Amino acid sequence: MTTRAYRRFDRGRLVVATHNPGKLREIAALLKPFDIETVSVGALCLPEPEETGTTFAENAILKARAAALATKAYALADDSGLAVAALDGGPGIYSARWAGEDRDFTLAMTKIERLFQELQLTDMSAKFVCSLALCDPQGNVEVYEGDVHGHIEFPPRGKNGFGYDPIFVANGMKETFGEIDPAAKHAISHRANAFKKFAKAVLA
Ligand code: IMP
Repeated sequence: MTTRAYRRFDRGRLVVATHNPGKLREIAALLKPFDIETVSVGALCLPEPEETGTTFAENAILKARAAALATKAYALADDSGLAVAALDGGPGIYSARWAGEDRDFTLAMTKIERLFQELQLTDMSAKFVCSLALCDPQGNVEVYEGDVHGHIEFPPRGKNGFGYDPIFVANGMKETFGEIDPAAKHAISHRANAFKKFAKAVLA
C-alpha cells in the first residue's frame, strides 16, 4: 500500500488534505516553524473522499493521494481518532462517524459514556492515534504514525481543542485535552508525535 519512492518535499506548496477545522488549526500550528506555504482542500473546494480504509494509515493515504492527484502538488493528510481499550479500540477509525452527519461530539462522547454504563465497563484506558500521510504529485506516499496514551473521564471538561478532547486525560496529567493550553497539547499529542517523525524525515 505504501510506496517509499516520494521525492524529498522541496518546501513549495503543501496541500493540507483535511476538512476538519480542528485538525487544520493544529497542523497549521505544527507547520508554523517551517517555511511552507499551505492551502487546505476546503479552500480549494475539493470534495472529501469516502474513508473506505480499514486502518488509520489506509484512510490517511487515500485522503492524501486524492488531494495530491487532484492538485498535482504534495498533500498531507491526517487520519486519527480515539481508541478506547474497553470498546476494543472503538470508536477508532469511526471516531468522526460516531458524531453523525452533524459532527456532534457531545453526542459521540455521550454514546461512549452510555456504553460504559450499560456494559458496566471499568477500564477507562484510551489512546489517541494519528496517521499522517504525505503524497507526492505522482501518488507515492509515506506514512508517519503517533499516539498518546491516557484514559477517559466523564463528564466532558474544557472548551479547548476539538472532537473528544474534553474526555481525554493523557498519562501524567489531571486536566483533559479540552482544558489544557493548545501548546501543552502540541507538546505531547498523537498528532505532534506523528508530525515529529514527518518533520525529521521530510523537513530536516
Ligand atoms: P477523521 O480522521 O477525519 O476520520 O476524523 C477523526 C476524528 O477523531 C475527529 O473528527 C475527532 O473526533 C477525533 N480526533 C482526532 N484527533 C483528535 C484530537 O486531537 N482531539 C480530539 N479528537 C480527535
